[in-house]
Amino acid sequence: MEVSDGFAGTIGNTPLIRLQRLSEESGCDILGKAEFMNPGGSVKDRAALYIVLDAERRGALRPGGTVVEGTAGNTGIGLAHICNARGYRCIIVIPETQTQEKIDLLRTLGAEVHTVPAVPYRDPNNYQKIASRMASDLDNAIWANQFDNLANRQAHYETTGPEIWTQTEGRIDAFVAATGTGGTLAGVARYLKEQREDIRCVLADPTGSALYRYVTTGQPEVVGGNSITEGIGSSRVTANLEGSPLDDALMIEDQQAVTLVYRLLHEEGLFLGSSTGINVAAAMQLAKRLGPGHTIVTVLCDGGARYYSRLFNLEWLASKGLSAS
Ligand code: PMP
Repeated sequence: MEVSDGFAGTIGNTPLIRLQRLSEESGCDILGKAEFMNPGGSVKDRAALYIVLDAERRGALRPGGTVVEGTAGNTGIGLAHICNARGYRCIIVIPETQTQEKIDLLRTLGAEVHTVPAVPYRDPNNYQKIASRMASDLDNAIWANQFDNLANRQAHYETTGPEIWTQTEGRIDAFVAATGTGGTLAGVARYLKEQREDIRCVLADPTGSALYRYVTTGQPEVVGGNSITEGIGSSRVTANLEGSPLDDALMIEDQQAVTLVYRLLHEEGLFLGSSTGINVAAAMQLAKRLGPGHTIVTVLCDGGARYYSRLFNLEWLASKGLSAS
């Protein structure tokens, strides 16, 4: 029988999609790993599962326990599903700058959601630090700590990376992705480099993030203003990202990302979120740099329905000086 075991058994093994128009236009194969097809709707289901399984294995999380996490949304959504399926309580701390759609979904899934002001990481009231304190005040509870918990990167090293290698039959020239925690990029890059050192692994960074400079100069330093993208960009180098075998970084302006999001919708039939716009814009830039005939893989991180009120609201876009084309 071809049957998957519950929610967890359905995570991963996502299709690799050739983006037809963009491939034709660039002369390269532009391939998107369809992470929006995970059962919780994003690339973060993989990390959420690995973090919970690792905590169970270590005995840190026992039956009836609680999972606490600070998240921009998608990790929380993955965790909330997994907690339901495995009988855990789920507490989510989310910055109030994230879309209402993600917050509503988390509540629907039964997570206890705390929205908090968005303050920098160094502030003791940063959402990640609040989550850490909440977990330490509870018995039989873990702080998932996706940013520095290496179970996150391991998920991509053991699953996403090998899937991409198998699906391309090793014919891959470059992998490019934006990072939030760094788990996806770091795990996939490590695995691919072990298969073939010459596969170019490239970071795509939104404005307002410090990682573009980290990769290109060795020192994290914020460049540009606040991006409208959600779940990506970082002011610090996480344990997951540290030491990643990266060759280069590209900085992508919001308008480039928004244009690609709408092109994916209208020309490819794919309704996807803003981080995917950054990723695919970066893949197209990389195609230009490498020239025709290369195979470039990126990540289609999550679906567009999480962003109706912003990315797909033309008035809201205009208020940010952005347009759909
Ligand atoms: N895209 C979206 C929509 C996300 O929510 C995230 C994670 N916050 C990422 C991309 C980045 O993934 P990672 O944490 O593995 O770097």
